[in-house]
Amino acid sequence: MGIKTTAFGFPKIGKNRELKKYVEGYWKGEINKDEMYRGLEKVNEERFEFLKKGDLDLVPSNDFSVYDFILDISTMIDIIPDRFRNIQDDTDRYFAMARGSESAIACEMTKWFDTNYHYIVPELTGNFRLIKNRPLDSYRWAKERGIETKPVIVGPFTYVYLGKVYERQEGSLLMNMIRSYDSEKFRPMVLSLAKVYNEILKELQSEGVKAVQLDEPALVLDITDQDVDTLLEAYRILTDGIDKTEIHLHTYYESLDNFEKIVFSLPVTGIGLDFVVNDENLENLKRYGFPDDKKLIAGVISGRDPWKTDYRKVLDQLETIGRHVSEDRLIISNGSPLFHLPVTIESEKGFLDENLLKMLSFASERIDELRILKEIINEGKEVPDQNIEEIRSIFINEDVKRSVKEIESIEIRRKDDFRERYRSQMELLGLPKFPTTTIGSFPQTKEVRQVRAKFRRGEITEAEYESFIKDQIKKAVEIQEEIGLDVFVHGEFERTDMVEFFGEKMEGFAFTKNGWVQSYGTRCVRPPIIYGDVSRPESMTVKEIVYAQSLTNKPVKGMLTGPVTILNWSFYRKDIPKKEIAFQIALALKEEVLDLEKAGIKIIQIDEPAFREGLPLKKRKQEDYLRWAVKAFRLTNHTVKKTTQIHTHMCYSEFNEIIEWIYQMDADVISIEASRSKGEIIQAFEDFNYDHGIGIGLYDIHSPRIPSVEEMLEIAERTVKVTDKNLIWINPDCGLKTRDWKETIPALKNMVKVAQILRDKY
Ligand code: GLN
Ligand code: ZN
Repeated sequence: MGIKTTAFGFPKIGKNRELKKYVEGYWKGEINKDEMYRGLEKVNEERFEFLKKGDLDLVPSNDFSVYDFILDISTMIDIIPDRFRNIQDDTDRYFAMARGSESAIACEMTKWFDTNYHYIVPELTGNFRLIKNRPLDSYRWAKERGIETKPVIVGPFTYVYLGKVYERQEGSLLMNMIRSYDSEKFRPMVLSLAKVYNEILKELQSEGVKAVQLDEPALVLDITDQDVDTLLEAYRILTDGIDKTEIHLHTYYESLDNFEKIVFSLPVTGIGLDFVVNDENLENLKRYGFPDDKKLIAGVISGRDPWKTDYRKVLDQLETIGRHVSEDRLIISNGSPLFHLPVTIESEKGFLDENLLKMLSFASERIDELRILKEIINEGKEVPDQNIEEIRSIFINEDVKRSVKEIESIEIRRKDDFRERYRSQMELLGLPKFPTTTIGSFPQTKEVRQVRAKFRRGEITEAEYESFIKDQIKKAVEIQEEIGLDVFVHGEFERTDMVEFFGEKMEGFAFTKNGWVQSYGTRCVRPPIIYGDVSRPESMTVKEIVYAQSLTNKPVKGMLTGPVTILNWSFYRKDIPKKEIAFQIALALKEEVLDLEKAGIKIIQIDEPAFREGLPLKKRKQEDYLRWAVKAFRLTNHTVKKTTQIHTHMCYSEFNEIIEWIYQMDADVISIEASRSKGEIIQAFEDFNYDHGIGIGLYDIHSPRIPSVEEMLEIAERTVKVTDKNLIWINPDCGLKTRDWKETIPALKNMVKVAQILRDKY
């Protein structure tokens, strides 16, 4: 007997990103459809090899996907928008929904909970119809290979919760979102989808499937009483006639509110809870107990951060859990899906620092950990010596720790108030009304990328590389003169990635060789690992910015990535609070800001595109996050002179609920998107009476299209009418690194014309 184990969500991308190779190979026409599927089968087979090492009692299936697991459900239950129905081939239709086709624009893509994974948003119609039982196919596929599995599917509540209702814009290809989740209006859809799930489950039951995992992470959000009611009703429908197949409902990413009601009343065999994310599920378990007729799938190892599991800590936790759930009803697993981790640390051996390696576990190592835990518990094997604290202590920097401690208690704020600062800044800079600028990066041509790669491989010398970068900067300055911009940038040619660049120059960061994590479809990112205390040994950007400034009389903006963004796009330590890491990064950046100022740079931009991304899932936790995130930003620049102008930039962000906090950041100028939303975004700023500088992003840099003077002017006028004209800046909506010069130059020239027209008019 003893406890059992399971796992789910193992990465789909393959050890060496084979998913990318096969799928993109098919898109490019380099391989045909069969070759793609055969390749992907191999990737999936390899996933089962990894799972095998775990000696898992319940092996997951149906958690592999060609592109996205939500899109898999949409195409399984006929949630296929009409504009794709004319595509006959299933595979091509599937990819068209994800990426668009010549005749139809793609479905919306958005962030999956508080992770960096993105899913394809279902365009809900309310008419669900089972057109292919994908979980059954996956089950059979594994069975043919001798593996008995537990199919994993996102549950009907979460699927509908994440979907939206759209309407086609008249005379246009665009879809307008008309409704997102609403307890009242979406209830019938959840219930009708539950019927379809019941069909799926009946077929699985007839096939002899022993257990099915339904993922319902939406249950950890701030759901209403009515939602709980809808959930219970849906699961009554869904489990009707299902008495031979176990249904395990999993929640993760946060604790489950409504614990007692859901855990005790839901008609399922097992409930999965995340015990890694925080102690709340454990506290609730102690408080409410656990029903005797259910199994608990206890998520005790992490799917989201790369640190080795501390076995002793987990054993303690399991002891507490064991007081409420008997051993024969306890299954242990990962707390959240494993696809937020790279595949394996194997490829990092000989590359990452040895001591750091001793601290890490990626997805494959998580599977080993589950086996080891089972052996310790069921067979009485010895707990391995881990020395986690001891190894960690190597990376601790007492100086950094000390300075961070002080920050907690002091107020961080610039001495002069905004009005006074802005007046003296503008006087010093001598800028016209409606100053024009860009967000930082200029086109990263093939040549730029190649030379950077050569330098990394050691094929050219540092001097050669530096002189190449200088050349690029010089060209960029000349082009900016020609375009007639008011505030220049150096172009960021030396940066591959806005986080990696700074991480590589600071202490406390590590970069993997092959630590890819799926972001969406075939797109992967390689997050840095913040393993130690963060500090900045020497200046990181001064040389390039100062060089650019030496070439022109126009002010050149210094360009930094903000502390909150660096943190939110990295794996980070768990032994200290997240805010302390943010403060550490902020202190390092503050030195950089002061160095730039000392070198004569008068405008410094500190980008925070991922500011909103770190927002906790539960509303009650958001204020605390926003408070320290704002503080971290202010910490980077609170000691500059009043004449030094601080800019920040955020990309596609909803500002409505957080505008007050954006204001609290106290930047002199914030540049935001305005082109795609046709100026809608500005509404939040208007409603709030935002009275600091604001740069309106008129040029949509995500499209190769060159926007006309008229269309940009229209968007600008909308803002100009309601905002203090002296506070408005004109800029694109993001950095230009993915664009070509040939469209960038005319687009920016048009943008400059817009500013000239505004100056004449107002
Ligand atoms: N300064 C960065 C750039 O221009 C900003 C990128 C971003 O906002 N994502 O590329
Ligand atoms: Zn941006």
